[in-house]
Amino acid sequence: MRTWSDVPLPELPGSSQPARIVESTGSTIVPDGRARLYVCGITPYDATHLGHAFTYTCFDMLQRQWRDAGLEVTYAQNVTDIDDPLFERAAATGQDHRELAAEQIDLFRSDMEHLRVLPPDHWTAVSEVLDDLEADVRKLSLGPAYELNQAGRTDYFLPTSPADVAGPRYRDIDLEQALRETGEDPDLPGKSGRLDQLIWRGAKGEDFRAEGEAPGAWRPGWHIECARIALNGLGPIIDVQGGGADLVFPHHCLSNVAMTALEPAAEVRGQMHTGLVAYRGEKMSKSLGNLELVSRLVNKGNDPMLIRLLLIAHRWDEDWEYTEADLQVAERRLTRWRRMRHTGGAGAADLLDEVRDCLADNLDTPRALAAIDAHVKDNENRDDRAGAQLFADMCDALLGIAL
Ligand code: ZN
Repeated sequence: MRTWSDVPLPELPGSSQPARIVESTGSTIVPDGRARLYVCGITPYDATHLGHAFTYTCFDMLQRQWRDAGLEVTYAQNVTDIDDPLFERAAATGQDHRELAAEQIDLFRSDMEHLRVLPPDHWTAVSEVLDDLEADVRKLSLGPAYELNQAGRTDYFLPTSPADVAGPRYRDIDLEQALRETGEDPDLPGKSGRLDQLIWRGAKGEDFRAEGEAPGAWRPGWHIECARIALNGLGPIIDVQGGGADLVFPHHCLSNVAMTALEPAAEVRGQMHTGLVAYRGEKMSKSLGNLELVSRLVNKGNDPMLIRLLLIAHRWDEDWEYTEADLQVAERRLTRWRRMRHTGGAGAADLLDEVRDCLADNLDTPRALAAIDAHVKDNENRDDRAGAQLFADMCDALLGIAL
């Protein structure tokens, strides 16, 4: 699929070390030479809220850090354009689901451009890989997957073993409840394991896409979709699999079960789950309706750099709450940084080293911003034209902030 526009990266002198990322399990991720990143993308039925924007901006910060460290980065992201919430929204508004998806994908492109997020190398919609997915399910049905017949149709499930959900990552999660919250049913009669995942819904005999194009009559399972798109874009090794913290289970777990079933050599080396963003006391979510949208903030006349600055004021793994006051904090910060750009600049080379150190340490963006603030305070009127240019290039290349 066509991505959004690329963002030119200014060249900086020297380079960084690859960031040492600390997962929630305590293990660390440091890619060597190549860095393959897969981030779960949007279901295009509603506009990008700040929770989504935080996730994609965090992974953008990662990609910028990796590139500054000289890694060869390949980034793949999906678009779940075949999914129940999309069909339901389209049905409720009388719109064709493809038309709704196309509109929302366009809006997402424009949001990402406003936030100066570097586009992925492979941006793949589920609708583009349906043939692959059908072939995958047919193949798995000859092996580990099984059929379950109900309501005149055949669904296919892939087993989950106890080993798949063992370990510290899943210890504090109510797995069955998490499954229910994503629309799957651990109690479904006929399932051989309660956590088994749906990999295809609604075949009729040999016809996997029966009932014409009626939305929702058939569809691949969500987890195997990401598995296939990741394998197509990145091959069997994924250095970082990423997404919001609510994707730990079932999505990432079961996606990896599917990936290994499709490709025994598949290996996900690390996972990064970004913090959840609250607004007015609760997690920002479509179902609760407490959303603040990137497009709404931009349409109100806010400089998109303020939105990016308020997002990166939080470390990638932090849960936080958005308030309108965040915009004012970001505005004061941006104003001072722009003053440094025009009337200051002294000491920028030292600042670059300091910012690189902060980002290499678990992508610590709040510490990087604090280091810049302190430096700007002391140097905003100490004119050094070359330093001022380096300062602007650093903010652009490492933080995605255009001054
Ligand atoms: Zn995914």
